[in-house]
Amino acid sequence: MESLHKKILEEGKALSGNVLKVDSFLNHQVDPDLMFEMGTYFKKYFENHGVTKIFTIESSGIAPSVMTAMQMNIPMVILKKQTSKILSNDFYQTTVHSFTKGHDYELTLAKKYINEADRILIIDDFLANGEAALGAIRLVEDAGAEVAGIGIVIEKSFQPGYKILKDKGYDLYSLARIAKLGDNIIEFAD
Ligand code: 5GP
Repeated sequence: MESLHKKILEEGKALSGNVLKVDSFLNHQVDPDLMFEMGTYFKKYFENHGVTKIFTIESSGIAPSVMTAMQMNIPMVILKKQTSKILSNDFYQTTVHSFTKGHDYELTLAKKYINEADRILIIDDFLANGEAALGAIRLVEDAGAEVAGIGIVIEKSFQPGYKILKDKGYDLYSLARIAKLGDNIIEFAD
């Protein structure tokens, strides 16, 4: 997605530890036109995948996800990051390790928002080690539903997540793929 590449080059900042800061348009301030265009791209790629719902992980996946859900005319569900386990049969939960924060959280989904017939498109802002995406996949599969695809805004292709998801056979589509990140270096994979 050309406009996203441009925005990343103009406003993205490579921090130490392979972290790309995109606070000015995705993670803190949000660029609505860019988010809408992301929705258009995701819709175009996934519209024939039989998707019934979009799942995202709070909070930075919400903006691109809602724009996609709106254009695909399907519901969107936000997977919550809880600090502890919920002792209730009404929820699915799985432990995920946060790449940026370095701690674990309980990714949480209320059972009433998924059923066995669902085909879920998972959308997130970044793909690094794949922990967040794999956590979302576990929740979908625990519920007996199917993952129809995974949409990522910024994939850091030099980190393990990309290969893990591909090797498991998931249909992964990323709007920007970064091959190299360093001091004043942002290089795209294609
Ligand atoms: P993973 O679980 O694939 O290791 O990391 C993905 C999650 O960590 C994303 O949901 C995102 O919030 C965060 N993340 C990973 N890498 C980056 C990065 O370079 N920049 C920012 N802002 N967040 C990242």
